[in-house]
Amino acid sequence: MAPLPWFLRALLGLATALLGVQALDAAGAVALGDGAARVIAAAVPLAAAASIAARAIRLRDCRLAWGLLAFGVGVWAVGYAVWTLHYDYGREDESLGPFYVLYPYAAAFLVFELRARHPRVRPAAWLDLTAAMLAVAAVGFGIILPLVPDTGAAIFPILGVALVALVIGLFAVASWSPGREWLIWGLGFATIAVADLVWAIADRTPVAVSVVLWSAGPLLLGWGAWLTPTRMPELESEVPERLVWPFALFLASLGIIVAGNITPLPPVAIVLAVASMIVATYRTGRAYREVRALPETRRLAHTDELTGLVNRRGFLDAVASELQEHPGRSTAVLMLDLDRFKELNDTLGHAAGDRLLAELGPRLSAALRPGDTLARLGGDEFAILCPGAGAAGARRVARRLHEAVEEPFAIGDLSVHVDVSAGFAVAPADGRTVSELLQRADVAMYQAKGGGTAVERYDATRDWNSRDRLQLAGELRAALDAGGQLKLHYQPQTSLADGRVVGVEALVRWRHPRRGLLVPAAFLEVAEGSGLMRRIGREVLRMAVAQAARLRDGGYDVPVAVNLSTADLVDRALPTEVAQLLDAARLDGRRLTLEITENTVMAQPERVLRMIHDLRALGCRVSLDDFGTGHASLEHLASLPVDELKIDRAFVSGMDRGEPAGTAIVRALSLLGRDLGVEVVAEGVETSSAWAELAACGATTAQGNLVAPPLSGSELDAWLAERREVGDDVEEHVA
Ligand code: C2E
Ligand code: MG
Ligand code: MG
Repeated sequence: MAPLPWFLRALLGLATALLGVQALDAAGAVALGDGAARVIAAAVPLAAAASIAARAIRLRDCRLAWGLLAFGVGVWAVGYAVWTLHYDYGREDESLGPFYVLYPYAAAFLVFELRARHPRVRPAAWLDLTAAMLAVAAVGFGIILPLVPDTGAAIFPILGVALVALVIGLFAVASWSPGREWLIWGLGFATIAVADLVWAIADRTPVAVSVVLWSAGPLLLGWGAWLTPTRMPELESEVPERLVWPFALFLASLGIIVAGNITPLPPVAIVLAVASMIVATYRTGRAYREVRALPETRRLAHTDELTGLVNRRGFLDAVASELQEHPGRSTAVLMLDLDRFKELNDTLGHAAGDRLLAELGPRLSAALRPGDTLARLGGDEFAILCPGAGAAGARRVARRLHEAVEEPFAIGDLSVHVDVSAGFAVAPADGRTVSELLQRADVAMYQAKGGGTAVERYDATRDWNSRDRLQLAGELRAALDAGGQLKLHYQPQTSLADGRVVGVEALVRWRHPRRGLLVPAAFLEVAEGSGLMRRIGREVLRMAVAQAARLRDGGYDVPVAVNLSTADLVDRALPTEVAQLLDAARLDGRRLTLEITENTVMAQPERVLRMIHDLRALGCRVSLDDFGTGHASLEHLASLPVDELKIDRAFVSGMDRGEPAGTAIVRALSLLGRDLGVEVVAEGVETSSAWAELAACGATTAQGNLVAPPLSGSELDAWLAERREVGDDVEEHVA
């Protein structure tokens, strides 16, 4: 109940008590005097009208509807009061007629209320309403008109029946469960209509029943005005019951027509019944077609137009039902995103983009198992549900999907290469709800995209959706836009045989405006997560080539080594970029070493192999960094055409701590390198004992704090100059 002011509550309470007295009087339990009975009969509807008017003024919602009703009931109550107080049996007072125009206001009130509460009413519901109104009116007239002796007085019950028909029709619109307040309002109007009917049947005499009902009806409205409106149910009720009501109406109308054949009925009742039947029949036919069309509608609602694949809604449904039907079973959700689709769309046009997507669908489908669901979520984003699959299964699927797009697509007379990044999450380990799984697979997909790996599993520790990381990513992007904040430090590499400087490794640093100098561990992961690796890679290459040229100009034959990220390595533009940089600096390719890591190689072996060939064709050296730390077989790695292996500092420090395994590994790796005829660089050389042992193992080069920590450009200059003066190494000058 809405906040009903205390004085109204008191007024309505009193009116209700008086209604009770009226009822007792009517039943003969108490005997009110004629005067008292008239005053009470006049007072109760006035109190009700006051309540409705107060509602219209005090509450803001549906003011128009309530204002109309307050006006209608108010005028009616005043007219009724005058009539009641002055009613002289046997004398008609036609002048009061205009006061009784309650029904049209009531009808307007109902329609406005309904529209306000339910702005979007389905056409079928309006048909229900029409059919219901016609049927109820037909039944009403069929029964009422024959009962009313004076057809002049029939106008009130006729309008009353029409109003009740409207109420019932509105119930039909509200799927027959309109909410408490509608029942009270409907009952109020029906009560008044019945009072009018009884009055008309009694040939315009206010029988006791009518008097009580003329009080009760308005009072119901007076109380009902303060009921809090309940939300109407959604009007998309399920199919079977939608068909029941039109059918019931149809039968009722049929009943009237049959009755009309047995006893004479007013023609208006027959006409209304026939009209109701027509509407109900049409309504039933419509509903039947809807039912028939339902599976097709459902299919369309779940299908992506362009590709014919399942769409986002369908995919969400599929994941939800899988989780529901097999709780606890491992299930993988993959997200797939085309790399550089936007560029392709922009350069070739949307039609070409659409063609590509449409061709992609079947290729991806062909790579899946029968039970898997492939969906296009929108744009160039695809998703796959693999019921029953674990991480290994998801990786297999991702690999097959990658293979599926290896072949170029024929778009017009162009053959277009696309590549996809995939991320996945496995239920229940990575998430238990539909939204968790999708969101996490998405995070993993962005990690794959950012890191340039083919596929990534969701990793909570790398989920960089935290505020800190987002902020850092924003700052890094701004730093890259502004330029000048990334710096390179250089760590010298020296020959284990004679101590000569044989190279420097460029290591990136970020001079953060507030946090100071950041090492790669502090920001590269964020860069990966936000897809900034490639931009960093370009910047680093540019600075490293410049440094290599400076070293050459200073008379040092020392290559600069650059760490490549996976994002760099899978970018086909990289060799061209490197060639252009070398060209611009007139630098010999052998003065640039490119370090790749085992993880990158394993992510996309064929692509990286091609890349290695391309880079070496430019004369660049290629080095395999972090050698031995991953899961790749050494034979496989050793078969790569590289110039250098870098033994990870974990092994070197292990050896240094006297761990036998450490020494064995370093020795094995060194031997492997020697067999292959490549340089073997040991990282993290911190002690002279490590140096000696490495030399004994057959490694060729040492890099580490024993020789020098990573140095800034000017520190490197000073360091090199000092060594040259001391003359403890022999420089090879470029011819
Ligand atoms: P990395 O390529 O294996 O580089 C060697 C790391 O070992 C460097 O750390 C270096 O400072 C550190 N180090 C060298 N000697 C010693 C030593 O004697 N003792 C110890 N404890 N550490 C030593 P840094 O500079 O923090 O770089 C870490 C990693 O970040 C690098 O490992 C590399 O994978 C990555 N990275 C650095 N710069 C770049 C870059 O420009 N691009 C890309 N993509 N990755 C980079
Ligand atoms: Mg390195
Ligand atoms: Mg390394």
